[in-house]
Amino acid sequence: MKTIMIDGSEGEGGGQIVRSSLALAAVTGVPVKLVNIRGGRKKPGLLRQHLAGVKAITTISHAETDGAELGSRCLTVSPKTLCGGEYTFEVGSAGSAILVAQTILPALLFADKESTVTIHGGTHAAWAPPYDFFARCYLPLLERMNGKVEVSIESYGFYPAGGGKIVMRVQPSSSLNGLSLMERQGGLQPRVHALVAKIPGSVGERECHVIRRKTGWDESVCEVSRISQSGGPGNVVMIECGFDNLAELVIGFGKVGVRAEHVARSVLRDARAYLASDVPVGPFLADQLLLPMGLAADAGQSSEFRTSPLSQHSLTHIDVLQRFLNIDIRCCENEDGSVSVCVG
Ligand code: ATP
Repeated sequence: MKTIMIDGSEGEGGGQIVRSSLALAAVTGVPVKLVNIRGGRKKPGLLRQHLAGVKAITTISHAETDGAELGSRCLTVSPKTLCGGEYTFEVGSAGSAILVAQTILPALLFADKESTVTIHGGTHAAWAPPYDFFARCYLPLLERMNGKVEVSIESYGFYPAGGGKIVMRVQPSSSLNGLSLMERQGGLQPRVHALVAKIPGSVGERECHVIRRKTGWDESVCEVSRISQSGGPGNVVMIECGFDNLAELVIGFGKVGVRAEHVARSVLRDARAYLASDVPVGPFLADQLLLPMGLAADAGQSSEFRTSPLSQHSLTHIDVLQRFLNIDIRCCENEDGSVSVCVG
């Protein structure tokens, strides 16, 4: 079978090209050669989180892999058969366990049997989907596409200590369905959730207090969880913008020297920006939905969604998907500045 060549410095030039190529190679069975890996980054090459994804895909797809080393800029993966089962993978830092889960998920959905996968790493890391986004925004949409996945968190992994642990159970599906997300349906159902681990719970209460004062949201939609099971100290505050047909989630990270009130105001600004944009699908969800939608389209099931102007991540992802799959992704700008994406 002809190997697909991917230049990892093109477009966004980061880790997503690597993860997406691995997932697509495993599902299609087509070998891939990646060169200039993360060529768009100051420190190019495979980092721990990407390497954990490479190793996980190699194991699950019984692949022959060359170049799976820290810092490697060139990688060849030739997948064989997709095997479900019990697996444990370690990122080995606060690198995102969720990004590893998303890398292997498509392969496990098309594996021969059910899988239970334990992943150790970061669960609420910056520049990656937080666990709650994965569990409450991404997976419910995947389920509507016939992707049956359950996930639980057994330990929280905040930056810099990591030490998180998630367990994901995946049922194989014969095929994925298409999905349409062109409008938000129903009114806003907000939810505010602050997590505090190994620091005073009053930090989370102050964050919730600011958000409630500025929005008038009821006390019943705000929750502070004091986390005892975590690799180290941490604080995040998340605002979930739920609708009848989807949910989006924005996150703020508490930091030493930054007041809780400031973290709360900043996450609220992000939530308001999403709400004001009036699109159902935010920029992160957009780049992540493209992969399952691409796989569904390859099997004849088209999808569509409306989002804000496409991020470089999404544009690069569209290129990678069209290299592996027999699909056509069309994007058109609407009068209000939003973009409609059709994956068919
Ligand atoms: P690199 O270090 O090369 O940037 P990476 O693998 O850490 O690589 P990206 O390639 O930038 O990261 O991909 C990050 C992924 O995390 C994207 O799919 C993006 O949508 C997602 N993501 C980042 N921040 C959030 C967030 N706050 N909520 C949801 N998803 C997020």
